[in-house]
Amino acid sequence: MMTGIMAAKILYVEDNPQNMRLVRKILGNAGYDMVEAVDGTSGLEMAAKEMPDLILMDINLPDMDGLAVTNRLKENPQLAHVPVIALTANAMHGDRERFIASGCDGYLPKPITKAELLQTVAHFLKQTKRESQ
Ligand code: MN
Repeated sequence: MMTGIMAAKILYVEDNPQNMRLVRKILGNAGYDMVEAVDGTSGLEMAAKEMPDLILMDINLPDMDGLAVTNRLKENPQLAHVPVIALTANAMHGDRERFIASGCDGYLPKPITKAELLQTVAHFLKQTKRESQ
């Protein structure tokens, strides 16, 4: 497999069209391949179908809590290794700890900034690559 020359695939589970548009632009410009889901149910389906290298997970989704979606992903042996980055607005003290305890690998507060997003994505993609070697 020539994965080294393929763009990393990132799944973004997000119900807010503005956030989706922003992240699509940032990741697209940076050369990533992005796939999208607008709720937890389709997020789980897309993850199984697309086998992304990384997942960005909105916590407030219309059908399920993003943490519940993350739990389900981590229960799937084929997807458990995929890093999940939680995204949420109105971050509260203790959120990061709560998200990590729920199986998320990282956390990004909204509003999303280009620099923070790209830095976090690159960090977790590097980590996955190292672990799989
Ligand atoms: Mn939301």
